[in-house]
Amino acid sequence: MNATQRPPAAHHAAHAASAGTPLRPPALQRLGLQRLRALPQPAERAMHAQHDAELEQMLPVLGPLFGLGMLLFTVWDMLLDPHLARYTLALRALAVLAGSAAYFPNALRWSVEWRCTHIYVTHVCALILCAFILPQGLVYGLAGIAACDFAAALCTLRLPVFARMLAAPTVLYVVLSAWRLPWLLCVSGLMQYAFTVALATVMLLVMRMFQQKSFLLEQQLLHLSQHDSLTGACNRRYLEEVAERELALAQRHGRKLAVAMLDIDHFKQVNDQYGHETGDRVLQALVRTCQGELREIDHFGRLGGEEFVCVLPETDRDDALRCAERLRHSLSMLAIATPFGPLHFTVSVGVAVYGPGHANWPALLHDADLALYRAKHDGRNRVVLASLR
Ligand code: GH3
Ligand code: MG
Ligand code: MG
Repeated sequence: MNATQRPPAAHHAAHAASAGTPLRPPALQRLGLQRLRALPQPAERAMHAQHDAELEQMLPVLGPLFGLGMLLFTVWDMLLDPHLARYTLALRALAVLAGSAAYFPNALRWSVEWRCTHIYVTHVCALILCAFILPQGLVYGLAGIAACDFAAALCTLRLPVFARMLAAPTVLYVVLSAWRLPWLLCVSGLMQYAFTVALATVMLLVMRMFQQKSFLLEQQLLHLSQHDSLTGACNRRYLEEVAERELALAQRHGRKLAVAMLDIDHFKQVNDQYGHETGDRVLQALVRTCQGELREIDHFGRLGGEEFVCVLPETDRDDALRCAERLRHSLSMLAIATPFGPLHFTVSVGVAVYGPGHANWPALLHDADLALYRAKHDGRNRVVLASLR
């Protein structure tokens, strides 16, 4: 490490590294924490997948409850017309039977949204038809028919899906009301129906906003639990988790896997000479640079102190050495701005490649650590490959 001027080629990297601003977690940047209304596509998809998964769990209970409710409406039918109630009960039972195929996931290979649509359309259409059959049923049953809009709004966060669920029952209700009711009653019923749809739509949008908020907070908590607060790199626990997963894939499918362990040379002197705040900025610059150099599929984490690990899936010995050398070179070109002039630092790197002798992640990491030890011993600022197991 020294404090001399570097050639212009290093200037750009030096400028970025010297900014010293706290790193914003990239995952949160992508999620756009401030913009609650428009989540980026991947986050939007993940949020809907989460909502669908929760709904999928509840559907075997909510579906039969909805069906039971439809059947219990027969009591109301009996008050209106005991004779016709026999027919409406049969109609309701048929509809519930047809819809019940979607109560449970294995019966139909539909998405949860299509299953909800199927249940809703069969059940509510039966409700409307029964109201049509009964004398003044479309008037007396309007509250029940309209209330079902709220059940539909509970099933999805997507307006197009909500509209799809409501489409057939709404058309049926409009046509049968126009056919059966005097025009004033018909218009009043349609207005009440439209008002309920509008309310249910507002409810859906409010629920969607709450869902977005809790989803983003959950993502933020997840990010905090998996990343190092100083540098934004994966923390040790999360790195072990992803490394174990990559190792299992390598073991099962015979894939290539390499590990590079980095340690800053004489970092204690940086702290001693420039202070801890500068030391922290060195660590941040190192992480920024390494993350910029590595691929999307690689994992980069902080083991602790000034030691870092790159997990490199699908990477053989030569590629791993090239990658480690590229990192070492890029880091040696950085210049960290300090009141005493630009600060340069170097790293030593130990590289280990997965082989049949590596039973688990600690074994592979141990080999990278031994290679790193040799790199230190041989003079630092170099890359050393561990011997194959
Ligand atoms: P070597 O070349 O052998 O690796 O020497 P070294 O000085 O880098 O190694 P050593 O283990 O003696 O010192 C590591 C230093 O890292 C000591 C500690 O103060 C510093 N360190 C650990 N974590 C942090 C941190 O979060 N911020 C700062 N500024 N320093 C840290
Ligand atoms: Mg060190
Ligand atoms: Mg160390």
